Formats: sequence, structure tokens, C-alpha cells
Amino acid sequence: MIAGIHRPAEVHVNLAAIEANITNEMKHLEPDQKLFAVVKANAYGHGAVEVAKVALKAGASGFCVAILDEALELRQAGIVKPILVLGVVSPEYADLASVNDISLTVPNLDWLKEAEKVLQKEDLQLKIHLGIDSGMGRIGFNEDEEFIAANKFLESNPNFFVEGMFAHFASADSNDDTYFKKQVAKFEHMKSLLTLKPKWIHVDNTAASIFNKKIHSDLVRYGIGIYGLNPSSNPASPDLEPAFELKPALSFVSELTHVKTIHAGDGVGYGSTFVADQDTIIGTVPVGYADGWIRKFQGFKVKVGDEYCPIVGRVCMDQFMVKLPYKMPVGSKVVLISDDPAAPNSIKKAADYVDTIHYEVACLLDDRLPRKYF
Ligand code: PLP
Repeated sequence: MIAGIHRPAEVHVNLAAIEANITNEMKHLEPDQKLFAVVKANAYGHGAVEVAKVALKAGASGFCVAILDEALELRQAGIVKPILVLGVVSPEYADLASVNDISLTVPNLDWLKEAEKVLQKEDLQLKIHLGIDSGMGRIGFNEDEEFIAANKFLESNPNFFVEGMFAHFASADSNDDTYFKKQVAKFEHMKSLLTLKPKWIHVDNTAASIFNKKIHSDLVRYGIGIYGLNPSSNPASPDLEPAFELKPALSFVSELTHVKTIHAGDGVGYGSTFVADQDTIIGTVPVGYADGWIRKFQGFKVKVGDEYCPIVGRVCMDQFMVKLPYKMPVGSKVVLISDDPAAPNSIKKAADYVDTIHYEVACLLDDRLPRKYF
């Protein structure tokens, strides 16, 4: 993958905002609670290594990623703090994780048995966190019998060091706590079956922590809050107010590469979904759906110079067009996403416009867009 450093399209990341978001959460932690910075998916599109370095400065005790390669990326960048892979890694890589001191999630008993065979060959020990499916319906133990058997299997097993046990909430961002409470009860039940003594028993994500759900969690797996975004901004659930201010860190900027006047009857873009009814000034922006700026953004207003201008015509793979209120020069600044949460083109407004959540808008921003840090 090549980052386009010779075109004017960049994702800007405000590292001071990232640091402030983590520092504020550190102050909000309960006594003895630790923070693991969730930097999976290239730190939700913000850049994993750069965000991880700031997180360390702000006091993070460890990191969570989704896949083994993301953990290796952090190790290769010289990060030595604990790293937990939250997703299922094939047991065939248990040795690779072990030699790199990376902790893996155990999804079930079969996984443990397979991983044991790999570890025994080289006489290795792997750090593990027992995954519990308390109602997310994704990975982890959900039956008593299997969990009890896994505990037995692990008791004095030299190939594993049981570092943690965790579950993930499906709806900690909602003000209806019914399902949340059901998940807490299931987790408490699974915990009561535990015969091992993991160092970290953890359930908190950003939402559970910043909306003060007050559930025991030895560490907070702090994700979206790092990036200054409110996890409770799904239009389907009413917004909850965080315990402290979150500062969005990401903006997405480009420039006009072409400006012209079209005339009545002239179309714009594939399928000519916009046809001018009079002389109309059209600007072209060199960003498209290949950058993660999806076709659904047609009609969304981006800021060109000081004006909010609608995207007209379909978004192409690498370019889109805007209707300008007056002739602006080529090179005029275009802000597709603003880091001002009150702006009409904030990441939240952009996500609402395309019927999704800001997590997805940020993660979709492709590696073709260079990240610049301020
Ligand atoms: N823990 C797990 C298991 C996750 O999958 C995620 C994110 O998807 C997080 C923690 C962090 O969640 P958030 O970004 O909402 O804080």
C-alpha cells in the first residue's frame, strides 16, 4: 500500500488532544485501576505506533489490538508494555506470540488444547486472557462445563500463564441498562467458577468507564475515548454525557485540484446524477471511495475556504465534485472532516449522514491517506 504523499489529501491527528483524552481518563480511573489503550485497526485510523507512544507518555499500562500483526507492529516499534490481542489468533501462532511476549485471548477449550501442542514443541509459555461471552455473542466461554474444564486444564499447566479474564459489553453506551446488567450477572457467575487467579479481570470499555457504570474492572480497555469521540453517539440510542470533555483528534483535509463553470444541461460524475440548471461553479477534490470516502457522502457539505459546499454527483473512486458558491482558486483548502465537534462536518455529523457511527468513518480512512501529526 502506497501513501499518497504527492497529492493534497491528508488525515491530521492532534496528538495533544489524544494525550489530553488519556490524561483525563487516567484521572477518572478508580484507585488501582489500569488503562490499556485500544489501538487496534491502526488506532481507529489515527496511526497505531504514534498513538501508542502518546498513550505511554500519558500513563497507559498496556495495549489492546485486534490481530497478532498489530501486536507485532507495536513490538517492532520498541513498545515493551503488555499487549493483549482481543480477537482469536490461530493457535498455530501461539509460539510467535509467546516469543514476542504478546498475550492472547482464549476463546474456548479446543483452542487451548491446540495451542498447548504448539507451545510444548518448544517448551514455551504463553500469557493468556480467558475470554468470556457474557452476552456479546462473539467469542469466549459461555457454558459452565467448558469453563470449569478449561480451569482444570490450566491448573499447573507450564505452557500457560493466566494473566486475565475478560468480557465485552454490547450496550454500555446506552442509557437502558437492562442488557448491560444481564451481561454483568453472567460475568459474575463465570467469575464465581474461576479456580485460577488472573492478575487482571476486566470488562470496562470507554463507555462503561466514562458513563460511570461502576462495575469492578481491574483495567479499562480504553478505545474510542482516546480519539475524543463519545461512544454514545449512535443515532439509535440517545447520547449519554461523558464524565469529562472529549477532544476529537482527527481531521481530514484536502484541496481543490480543478475549478470550472458548467452550463445548464451539463452533468457531473458517473450517471450524471447532478445536472446543472444554470451556470454552476464546480470544484474537484482528489479524494474518493478508494480512500474510504464512500459514495453515500453525495450531498454532504464539506468546507471549502470559509464555505460549506455540497458534494454533487456521485463520489468517484479517487475524486469528488462540490458545488461552489463563487469561483475559488485551485489549491483552496477543503476540510472533509473537522475536529471541531460543533462543526457541520464533524466526524459525528459525517457518520450520521452516511447512517453509521464515527468508529466506522475513522476506520475506513485508507492507508493511501498520509497521517500527519501535530
Ligand atoms: N474491548 C474490546 C473487546 C473491544 O472489541 C473494543 C472495541 O471494539 C474495546 C474494548 C474498546 O471499545 P471502545 O472503543 O468503545 O472503548
